[in-house]
Amino acid sequence: MTEPQEPQRSVSSRQNIRKWLLVISFLLIPVTIFYISPVIIMMGAAEGIVTGGILLFILIFFLSLFVARLWCGWLCPMGACQEIGSPVMKHTVADGWRNWIKYGVMALWIIVIAYSFYGAGGIHAVDPFYGTVNGISISSLDILMIVVIIFSGIFAIAYFTGRRGFCHILCPQAGIMVAGRKIRNIFGWPALQLNADAALCIDCKKCSKECPMGLDVNGMVRKGEMEKADCILCASCADTCPKGAITYAWRNK
Ligand code: SF4
Ligand code: SF4
Repeated sequence: MTEPQEPQRSVSSRQNIRKWLLVISFLLIPVTIFYISPVIIMMGAAEGIVTGGILLFILIFFLSLFVARLWCGWLCPMGACQEIGSPVMKHTVADGWRNWIKYGVMALWIIVIAYSFYGAGGIHAVDPFYGTVNGISISSLDILMIVVIIFSGIFAIAYFTGRRGFCHILCPQAGIMVAGRKIRNIFGWPALQLNADAALCIDCKKCSKECPMGLDVNGMVRKGEMEKADCILCASCADTCPKGAITYAWRNK
């Protein structure tokens, strides 16, 4: 059966759009950070309040059933912070035990949230704007300083561990999306994924060099294994490949 393929497009146009989306996401941090912050979610849970962050993560989980970690590649401000700084990050995060830490962080985070709701006597309210002032997250110099320190930490982790090191190692949201993708892979319904034709590959390794997650994309193409937990479906590899060996595809497993 012929698989549906994406139409040919300018290499740079899609990546330009992606990079601009990441820049905008980064610039909007003063507005959006409380809707994304795992800490604000825990603070709300301690008062029995379902915050905007919980609603967002439920949405991201359901989206991951169809588009895996597309959020990380195209919209996440934490990812944006690391990718904007990637020109000074020369090394990549190696496969291994460190990539498993995020699942432990996710499990701990979910347990703390559940326990906090339990301690608060259950859910008392839903407040998407919890913690914000007129919908704005950074409403004082103190909050600004805390956010700057947190994002400096995220950048430092990536700087010392490798490109998008925080996404690889510590992000609890990554684990939620990986779980969504695993569920989809069990049932095999149509979803966005990478498709590769090894016969077209000339082993130039441009795809591996461009991958913001530092994956060995050339090796993935050669092995015919394009499904990776740490792939954020950014399409940089597809848009870099001079032979069109990699494409986005919407298909069954
Ligand atoms: S393998 Fe391709 S789509 Fe996945 S993260 Fe790397 S460059 Fe992006
Ligand atoms: S960029 Fe394309 S041709 Fe080059 S190694 Fe990757 S898949 Fe092969």
